[in-house]
Amino acid sequence: MPKIRKKSDLPEKPCVHCGRPMVWRKKWEKTWQDVKYCSDRCRAEAKSRASAKPKKHVTDLV
Ligand SMILES: [Zn+2]
Repeated sequence: MPKIRKKSDLPEKPCVHCGRPMVWRKKWEKTWQDVKYCSDRCRAEAKSRASAKPKKHVTDLV
């Protein structure tokens, strides 16, 4: 019998930035554990947000 690979057999996990489900891709076979973002765009946005931490200006809140 021919092996039928269902798409659902592939690993899947949500992008930590946008939350969209990412399906395993061939190019990720070696880095799947480290893959956090569905695209370079998400990675860039997540990084820019992370680096844009609000400074501690407590007095500005008054
Ligand atoms: Zn994403």
